[in-house]
Amino acid sequence: MLLTITTTHQPATDLGYLLRKNPARPQSFTLTFGKAHVFYPEATPERCTVALLVEVDPVGLVRNRRGPSGEGGALEQYVNDRPYAASSFLSVALAEVFGSALSGKSKERPELAEAPLPLRVTLSALPCRGGEALLRKLFEPLGYTLSARQLPLDASFPDWGESSYHRVELDARLPLQQLLSHLYVLVPVLDNDKHYWVGDDEVSKLLRHGEGWLAAHPEREAITRRYLKHQRSLVDDALAQLADEDEPNPDAVAEIHAVEEEAIERGISLNEQRLGSVLAALKSTGAARVLDLGCGEGRLLQALLKEKQFAEIVGMDVSHRALAIAHDRLHYDRLPPVQKERLRFLHGSLIYRDQRLSGFDAAAVVEVIEHLDAARLAAFERVLFECAKPKAIVITTPNREYNVKWETLPAGKFRHRDHRFEWTRTEFQDWANRVGGCFGYNVRFLPVGPVDSVVGSPTQMGLFERQSA
Ligand code: SAH
Repeated sequence: MLLTITTTHQPATDLGYLLRKNPARPQSFTLTFGKAHVFYPEATPERCTVALLVEVDPVGLVRNRRGPSGEGGALEQYVNDRPYAASSFLSVALAEVFGSALSGKSKERPELAEAPLPLRVTLSALPCRGGEALLRKLFEPLGYTLSARQLPLDASFPDWGESSYHRVELDARLPLQQLLSHLYVLVPVLDNDKHYWVGDDEVSKLLRHGEGWLAAHPEREAITRRYLKHQRSLVDDALAQLADEDEPNPDAVAEIHAVEEEAIERGISLNEQRLGSVLAALKSTGAARVLDLGCGEGRLLQALLKEKQFAEIVGMDVSHRALAIAHDRLHYDRLPPVQKERLRFLHGSLIYRDQRLSGFDAAAVVEVIEHLDAARLAAFERVLFECAKPKAIVITTPNREYNVKWETLPAGKFRHRDHRFEWTRTEFQDWANRVGGCFGYNVRFLPVGPVDSVVGSPTQMGLFERQSA
């Protein structure tokens, strides 16, 4: 398989310094599965191209078999596309041969290692069953211009039609390190196969090489699933960690929330009232199995545990720290076994579909939605109302109209620094009615806290009930 990278940055031969491979000297490297050769088909001050040719030895692979055995028939073990197609072998070769460039280091040209450079990549045969559309979905959000040509199965037999391999050219202005990281992750994703056994350290590899771009990539879920070979527990773990990265420091957020918001709302102990209202709403639904999504430090969980009606209580949060505090607040380790059996904690994010959330009677989402920006709110709607779809859902959020009543809150400011929005009653009700309508829930609205005749109550609550429930 052949990869070339070309730059027209001047002097173009600086590419040799970034890769730590002298343009004048071809080199070969022995890898566990074959050989890698590095050479420069052109190296002038105006234009420089490096080529990485990876030779995979399929016979050697069978002999030094790693990972689970028995995949594929005997013939397939010897006759396969691995020597020709770009795959995870290429990623391994990139890490072995261009390791320092992949980690963004350059002894001779440190400033250039971070600079965006005009770069063109050519991959001679990139497997992609999803066709050009998938290639675009993966590369275009990262700023690449892509051109792809589907290769025939066999040029001598045009009747056989097209193969799933593409000759791909990618152009972008990026630091070399970023480009290498994109290839490291996305080539195996496109191949949708991995030559080695996927273990826990693959999650950290994915997160390391995906740093700074994967968390915000619109296809991050598909990328993560394919990269980790669809292994559910690893995928969940990686996605939850990506969510952490994407939502700047959720632990800090939870902490600020507790301190700032409480100070503002202290006067009337709104927290207590909210808890009481949510608890009453949950009880009224007759639920036995309940979720507290974005459970924070576990105040609602504590109240739920006191009510016998709730046989199974699950608290989920994206913040490890909040979960740890909740764990302590409830003295989880010292709970008698009957109580302990009723309560579970999950680390996870509300913006990713999560099977663990299915099959519940009710879910509470208390003072959480205002922390989600518009794109995440849309993802959250589907995660909760379409995928988890509990019979009842209780959502609370601040009523912005009431903010004029907080003496300590400057006009036009939100109650909490991390709030992405605070809705008026009409805005919340419009949203809730739309979402309820979309996913088959009836919704009722209830005030929480003292009701002012003009601006309403400080907190607003929507109680959604599934129509078919
Ligand atoms: N429900 C709690 C906490 C509210 S603070 C209470 O009323 O006290 C908001 C909580 O939502 C924080 O703990 C934060 O970590 C969590 N959160 C924010 N975004 C989230 C997401 N995408 N998935 C899960 N939890 C999230």
